[in-house]
Amino acid sequence: MEPIQLGRGDTEFIRKVEEESRQVVKKCYQCGNCTAGCPMSFSYDYTANQLMRLIQLGQRERVLKSRAVWMCVTCETCTTRCPNEIDVARVLDVCRHMARKAGYGGVFNNMRVFADSFLQTVRWNGKSHELGLMALFKMRAMKPFSDLSLAPSMLLKGKLPYLPHRIKGRSEVAGIFKRFSEQQLKELHAQTTDDKKPAGGDK
Ligand code: SF4
Ligand code: SF4
Repeated sequence: MEPIQLGRGDTEFIRKVEEESRQVVKKCYQCGNCTAGCPMSFSYDYTANQLMRLIQLGQRERVLKSRAVWMCVTCETCTTRCPNEIDVARVLDVCRHMARKAGYGGVFNNMRVFADSFLQTVRWNGKSHELGLMALFKMRAMKPFSDLSLAPSMLLKGKLPYLPHRIKGRSEVAGIFKRFSEQQLKELHAQTTDDKKPAGGDK
């Protein structure tokens, strides 16, 4: 890891993570309990406690460009193990949303494509539809033939149902996505308006 210049962190980033997650990240004292229980640590570039430390230091770019924010499966083990009752999984969730908004994904772009495809099937059906998810992901990631050999046995075992299960609250779930899109449009509009304002504010 490159050396970190203490005192030069992005304080606005720290404030935003704490506000959006409603967690006091400063309370983390680096005991490492979260990392010790994390089933995805093997695939992370920064472990859960390292991410918490980077957030405390306002290292926005390192956190948002990390592989870990995309590899976290939100199992919440870290949250249940934290002696300071910090909802670490929620903090990482917020960072993932921030990374997504900032357009980060880079070499991990397929993880973003996978997450988007998963959410798309939830939006359509109210819950995930594995076959639809696989089809969407392969199309968007332009990997039509990857893992194809697994399909027959999964189909035989009923792991890839042809038709999605339609749940009762489908319209409510669709409503959540609609409100989220509207909110994003509002934020984009506010940002564009801010960008157009002359430097030095309104005069
Ligand atoms: S929520 Fe993410 S960081 Fe926390 S234990 Fe699970 S995989 Fe690891
Ligand atoms: S378990 Fe809690 S206090 Fe310990 S390192 Fe993780 S976030 Fe920090």
